[in-house]
Amino acid sequence: MKIVDKKNLIHAFSPSMKAVLSAKPQEVVVFETLDALGGQIQKESDVVQLDFSKVNPATGPVYVEGAKPGMTLVVKILDIEIDNQGVIVAEEGFGVLQDVAKGFVAKILKIENDFVDFAGKKLLINPMVGVIGVAPENEEFPTGTAHKHGGNMDTKEISKGNILYLPIFQEGALLALGDVHALMADGEVCVSACEVNAKVTVKIDVTAEKIEWPIVETKDSFCIIVSLPTLDEAVKEATHQAVRFLSQKLNMSTLEAYMLASLAVDIRISQLVDPNKTAKAVIPKTLLA
Ligand code: CA
Ligand code: CA
Repeated sequence: MKIVDKKNLIHAFSPSMKAVLSAKPQEVVVFETLDALGGQIQKESDVVQLDFSKVNPATGPVYVEGAKPGMTLVVKILDIEIDNQGVIVAEEGFGVLQDVAKGFVAKILKIENDFVDFAGKKLLINPMVGVIGVAPENEEFPTGTAHKHGGNMDTKEISKGNILYLPIFQEGALLALGDVHALMADGEVCVSACEVNAKVTVKIDVTAEKIEWPIVETKDSFCIIVSLPTLDEAVKEATHQAVRFLSQKLNMSTLEAYMLASLAVDIRISQLVDPNKTAKAVIPKTLLA
């Protein structure tokens, strides 16, 4: 099994980034990841010397043999192993309610027996990968921004057992990931979640099918993940993508697929707090049977 060491960090997904390792289709790769603060906050007072240039690291990238532009990278999340301590931060001027936090504050969270301890509440963990993506087509994106290449999608369905499909824009795809959360709710309203160091085990594959935006397949659904500068734009494009998906798969007219989406496709929020906002169209698999 190949391991990508957490020393191999990127802070931007760029079209020309250099691979640190190569993998074959069907190969299992382990990514060691640092939390979104770059592992800099081990105790609450560490916020004082936080270096913002080290925030939002992703580990990689990995070159995938046979991956060509126009194809799709298939990433099955086999396992997410997390540390027993996480951190949540809030910052004045960020998040949905920008004036609740004064300055930059951090809270260390203990994780025990699959529960996060927050202010006396025991919350069941749902480990997920916040940042995962490939080399984009033309433009460079900081790891904090999500778009068609993936990136900071903060989508809680990117979790153990599920399969992420990413459009490939460059030879070898160049997969990198990081920003694991022990737990996050849709919205991620205060700007962060339970940020943890982790080890993420994935099985990588490639298919010839072409997709436009990332899609995560769960046991019950396909979620099309769209990230654009405003939530309104993200919701509109996610709806458009869901209608197109249904009309193609079910051989329906656009109008019929639009009406079906209105009856059976949930348009939900992944996150509201990153530079691009992320919406997801959740298409139940029962529609495709
Ligand atoms: Ca994130
Ligand atoms: Ca995060």
